[in-house]
Amino acid sequence: MSLNVPQKTSTKDYQMWSNWAGNIQSTPAITVQAHTEEDVVDAVKQAREIGLSARVCGSSLSFSPLVATGGMLLNLLNLTGITAIDPARGRVRVRAGTTIRQFVADLWDRGFALLNQGIIWNQTIGGALATSTHGTGQGLQGMSSMVTWVRLVDGRGEVVEIGEDDPDRLHAAQTSLGVMGVFLEIELKVVPRFFLEERLVFVDWDEAQRSWDSDVAANRNHAVMWLQSDTAAREYNVPTPEGKSLANSAMFMQFNPIDPISESEWCREVGARRGPSYFVLSAENTTNPFFELEYMIPVDKAHEAIRQVQDLMRGEHANQVHPMFIRFVKGDEAWMSPFYERDTVTVSVAGHPGVEYWPYLRDVDRTLKQFEARAHWGKLHLMTREYLEAVYPRHGDFVRVRREIDPDGIFLNDHTRPLVG
Ligand SMILES: Cc1cc2nc3c(=O)[nH]c(=O)nc-3n(C[C@H](O)[C@H](O)[C@H](O)COP(=O)(O)OP(=O)(O)OC[C@H]3O[C@@H](n4cnc5c(N)ncnc54)[C@H](O)[C@@H]3O)c2cc1C
Repeated sequence: MSLNVPQKTSTKDYQMWSNWAGNIQSTPAITVQAHTEEDVVDAVKQAREIGLSARVCGSSLSFSPLVATGGMLLNLLNLTGITAIDPARGRVRVRAGTTIRQFVADLWDRGFALLNQGIIWNQTIGGALATSTHGTGQGLQGMSSMVTWVRLVDGRGEVVEIGEDDPDRLHAAQTSLGVMGVFLEIELKVVPRFFLEERLVFVDWDEAQRSWDSDVAANRNHAVMWLQSDTAAREYNVPTPEGKSLANSAMFMQFNPIDPISESEWCREVGARRGPSYFVLSAENTTNPFFELEYMIPVDKAHEAIRQVQDLMRGEHANQVHPMFIRFVKGDEAWMSPFYERDTVTVSVAGHPGVEYWPYLRDVDRTLKQFEARAHWGKLHLMTREYLEAVYPRHGDFVRVRREIDPDGIFLNDHTRPLVG
C-alpha cells in the first residue's frame, strides 16, 4: 500500500511498531513520518479516502495500547521546536513532536521553565499532554492544566484552532487521549525560570505515616516510594544507605527552591541534583522495562487505599518486586484528566518482566476502584465505559466534543473506541 503524499514525506508499509516497554505491538498498514504540517494534513485526508483509521505516536512510552493501530501510524518527531513566546503573558507555543527534554532546555535559555514535570523527560509534548502527564507537589497541577491553545488536524483533514475563548473544547483537548485529532502546535503557560535542589530521605513506614501531612505541605515537590523489601530497593536502583535494610520503609524524593547558583555549582547526579528546575525535576529514562499501572485517588481516601495495596504486595502478590510510588497532584479542569476537580494522591505499581503480573494488577485495579480511582491514560488500566461514566463527571461532554472534531471516528482504535467512541 502506498500514499500519494509529497515526496519528502517518508512512508513505510507494514512496519512493526512497539512501545518502549515492549508489552504492546502492532503493525500499521502505513507509517508516515511527517516532515511538514502539510504532510500531516495530506496523510489524514488520504487515510480517510482509503478507509484507514489513524493514530499518532509520540515517543511511544505509554504502557497502554493508546497508539496501537493496524491503520495509519503518524509520527511527528520531525515537527519540533518553539514557535512563539509571549513573555508578558507567560505563554509559549511549541510543535507537538518536541520532546520535553528539548523543550525545557530551550525554555531555560529564554528565561522560562515549566511549573512542574514528570520524573522522565523523553516524552513528546503531544504525548505527555494527551495522557495528563504529571509530576508531584500538593500545590501543583498536571501538565494538561498548562494548555491554553492548540492547533490540530481534525477528522476531516481540516486545521482547527481551539483557545481560551472556547473553554469547553479546550478542556476536552487538554487531555485528549489522542482522539481529538492530530495536534500540530500547542500553547502552554510557563513561569520564570527557577532553581531547585533534590533531597532523598529514608524513614521507616510508621514514621512516614506520622509526618505525612507536614512532609507533603513542607516541600514544593514531595514523592514517596514505599519499599516492601530490599529486593524492591535493588530492582528500582534505590541508593540504599550503607548497611541499612529498607524493607517496609519509605524513600522521600523532595525538590525545593534555592537561590540561583552558577553553572559550576550545578549537579546532575540523580539523588543529589541541584540547579535549573528542568533537570532537577526530570531525568533521562535509564530503567529497564517494567509494566506500570497508576491510579489516582482522592486525597481523603488515600491512606486506606495505600494500606490495602500494601496488603496485596505483602500477601498473595509478594512475588512482585517493584515498589509502590506515591505522588501528590492538585485538581485541574481538563475533562478527561484523572485530576479533574480533585486533589489527588497517585498510587503506582508495576509488573516486572518474566513475572506474571496481570493477576496482581487486576487485584490492584479491583482494590483501588473502591476508592473512585481514575487511571493514568498512558499506563496499564482496566477502565470500562460504565466505570468512566461514573468517575469522570465530564465523560459524556468529552465524547460529544470528540464526535464534533472527528465525526467518523478515524482517530479511534480498539482500545479507545469502547471507552470514548
Ligand atoms: C519510564 C517511564 C516514566 C514515566 N514517568 C511518568 C511521570 O513521571 N509522570 C507521568 O504522568 N507519566 C509518566 N510516564 C508516562 C508517560 O508520560 C506517558 O505515557 C506519555 O503519554 C508518553 O509520551 P509519549 O510522547 O511517549 O506519547 P505516546 O506514548 O507515544 O502517546 C501517548 C498518547 O499521545 C497521543 N499523541 C502523541 N502525540 C500526539 C499528537 N501530536 N497529537 C495527538 N495525539 C498525540 C498518542 O496518540 C497517544 O494517545 C512514564 C512512562 C515511562 C515509560
